[in-house]
Amino acid sequence: MSALWDQLSPQVVSQYETVIGLEVHSQISSSAKLFSSSGTQYQSSPNTQVSVFDGSLPGTLPVLNRRCLESAIKTALALNCHVWKRSLFDRKHYFYADMPAGYQITQQRHPLATDGYIDFIVSAGQQSAAYMKRSKLKQIQLEQDSGKSLQDITNNRSLVDLNRAGIGLMEFVFEPDLSSAAEAVSLIKELILILKTLRTCTCKMEEGVLRVDANISVRKADEPLGVRTEVKNLNSFRFLQSAIEYEMQRQICVIESGGHVVNETRMYDMKLKQTVAMRDKEVVQDYRFMPEPNLPPILLRDDNDSTIDLINISDFEREVSGKQLPNQLRDHLLTTYGLNLDQIFQLMNEKGMTDVFIQIANYSQTKQFDTIFTFMNTELKTQLQELKQNFESCSVDLKTVAQIIDSLINEQISSRIANQLLSLYFQNEKRSPDRVIDENDWKIITNPDIIEKSCLSTIESIPKIARKYAKSGVRKRQSLLIENVMTLLNNRVNESDVWLQYDRLLRKDIKIANNS
Ligand code: ADP
Ligand code: MG
Repeated sequence: MSALWDQLSPQVVSQYETVIGLEVHSQISSSAKLFSSSGTQYQSSPNTQVSVFDGSLPGTLPVLNRRCLESAIKTALALNCHVWKRSLFDRKHYFYADMPAGYQITQQRHPLATDGYIDFIVSAGQQSAAYMKRSKLKQIQLEQDSGKSLQDITNNRSLVDLNRAGIGLMEFVFEPDLSSAAEAVSLIKELILILKTLRTCTCKMEEGVLRVDANISVRKADEPLGVRTEVKNLNSFRFLQSAIEYEMQRQICVIESGGHVVNETRMYDMKLKQTVAMRDKEVVQDYRFMPEPNLPPILLRDDNDSTIDLINISDFEREVSGKQLPNQLRDHLLTTYGLNLDQIFQLMNEKGMTDVFIQIANYSQTKQFDTIFTFMNTELKTQLQELKQNFESCSVDLKTVAQIIDSLINEQISSRIANQLLSLYFQNEKRSPDRVIDENDWKIITNPDIIEKSCLSTIESIPKIARKYAKSGVRKRQSLLIENVMTLLNNRVNESDVWLQYDRLLRKDIKIANNS
């Protein structure tokens, strides 16, 4: 496959567009299951979180967990959905060893909520600028999670653990309106921010709390939607990204070599870094949907209804509108600080970073928010990582960080000295930044005569490298030129000022050529 892909010309590939629609399963945060009172503790010993109902003993009956329902209502409202005052449960039948009832209780005909949407920032990293996108949410339904089958290889047998069976899930079904892996990853990141703000799901993908099914198809522009495949249970951003990219390439290759994409379910094999077929959907599986007879319809009310003993949707509308949801935070960062979408995406998706940014911005006298972001995203982040800290656990007083950045912005110190200062505070420096700068004699040197002198003596000591720079002009590879001056001047200069002198001294010819 990859051999064929490598042969396809960019023109051929660019005729195709990719269409992606996501389905997300997220476990609702609750200490009890959706229809029983057993616990939901992750990694408990096998089959210790199982009631008679979860084990499908005859005669046991489901009782809807009010907390799960309320969480799903909140989530639906935050995702701009219409929450229906009447919704129903259905049985979806299929055979699985870890599903003793032989069916899953879900919502098929009348789900809890429909017609929502999520606005989100799409960030594709370095390659292109971030942009806004909207994905439509077809519906949210409540359903049961399944158990787990385990393979006991030593004894050559299958075992069943029902701890997960019956945990409440919200399933989000999105419309096929995404066109790249970056859009899919960004949508899930936004969904996670929203669920975490509402505290309706912990979103720990590594624990399988949030799992993504990606439906993927390709088509040539102006053609109707192509046949899709579904890649199941993607539980990391990396897998989601590479499964989509792989599937897109595979489908284009199938079509280009004269074949047809088959509607099938696939899984992502992380060792092969490929999607592999699980079962085909050509023979439509008959789930024998039927109404769940043991559960009454979910009935809700709003402020306009007088039946008082029902859950009131309007109460949750008020609760949700009182929370600062990610889109409001995004607008705040945009209008108050003038940050761009890439910067906002980074702030919001790194734990604790937005808080730290807002605090430093408040302490700062200069209010150069762009520089504050850059300093945080480079120097501060690097030093935190080196010390195994993060923005949430940052041990340096943020007022001090603001003072350091202000000194940098006011051109009192060079960027190298700013880093040195910062690392002093990670080592518990108690004096104020101004005093440290004073006592260490760390004030910036901008006097061109002093810088020129150091450049000249550097050129003398490493003439070969100086000549190389004069000829090729590639700065990065001649870093010795910088380092030498830094040593001579105790890091008290900015690199750009040093290059200015070098260019003047070594590259006169080019300057003249450029000026004329
Ligand atoms: P079904 O009823 O067969 O399950 P749905 O209409 O419910 O199909 O869609 C299931 C998921 O598949 C949705 O997330 C939807 O966005 C996605 N999807 C549907 N058609 C396509 C397509 N041609 N390409 C990519 N995704 C699709
Ligand atoms: Mg469906």
